[in-house]
Parts: sequence; structure tokens; C-alpha cells
Amino acid sequence: MAIRTIITEEDAVLKKTSHPVTKFDHKLHVLLDDMAETLRDANGLGLAAVQVGILRRAVLVINEADEIIELVNPVIVEAYGQQDGLEGCLSVPGIYGDVKRPMHVKVRAQDRDGNFFEVEDEGITARCFCHEIEHLDGHLFKERATALYTVEELEKAEEEDGEEG
Ligand code: ZN
Repeated sequence: MAIRTIITEEDAVLKKTSHPVTKFDHKLHVLLDDMAETLRDANGLGLAAVQVGILRRAVLVINEADEIIELVNPVIVEAYGQQDGLEGCLSVPGIYGDVKRPMHVKVRAQDRDGNFFEVEDEGITARCFCHEIEHLDGHLFKERATALYTVEELEKAEEEDGEEG
């Protein structure tokens, strides 16, 4: 396993559409293992292959039980409800935004060996599914955000909230 470099929004590759995975071979397994190590190292909740410069439809999401879910060729098949919340991205360091997402999301995907499965979750994990799958079509959360903040702005707002409370 190896930690790969996470590319940032200045890199035009992030705007490209990723291609379906067709070979469930050793190369894919190495990519997924490297992505897991990279994601843990970066303390993130999700990572798409394109974020390490590989234009393949593969993403990882860490659920609330701290398990890594590998999603190959993922498609959202059901989404309902709504949540408002703060979202960030390892490819957009230091910036967070208010993004509306569905509260519940069901995803159909393949595992690393090509077997189809479905996974359903809510809250932050549902948010993560949406965020990561959008990366595969070249989209960043910033495009959907109704407001963007820097870390400094968020810290300042938190301090002010604290004083009031
Ligand atoms: Zn992201």
C-alpha cells in the first residue's frame, strides 16, 4: 500500500468524467488499497479515484461505524428527504460550504471483485455518497454550495457563538 497524492481543484483532471471500471483485477485492488491508506492519512470521510488522478469510477466512503465502503461504478438509485450541512473536500483544502443533500441515499455499486450490491445510509454518510459520486462526473461541492467559508471564518463564528451561549 502507498499513500498517493491528492490533487486539488487547480488541477483540470478533477473536472473530467471518470470511465467505468471494467477490469476487477490486481491493479484495481492496489488502487483501492492505496486510496484507503490515502484517505485514512488525510483524515477524510470519502475519496474518489479521480482525486488521486485516476479517471475510474471508484470511490471510498467511511461510514459512521468507521468502516470503509468500496464503491465501484456506483449509481444512486434512491434518494429522499433533505439535509442542510457543512461540507468540505480533500481536493479543496481549507474551504467549507453549506450544501443541501438528500437525507437518505441508496447506492448500487460493484465490489472490488465485480459483484453487485446495494448500500443504504443516511445523514453524513448519505452526504458522502452524493459528494463522492459527483466527483466521478467532474463536479465539486463548491458548485452546489449556497455559501462558502474559510476555516478562519468558521472558527471565528464558533467563537462568537460561544460568547453568546
Ligand atoms: Zn471531494
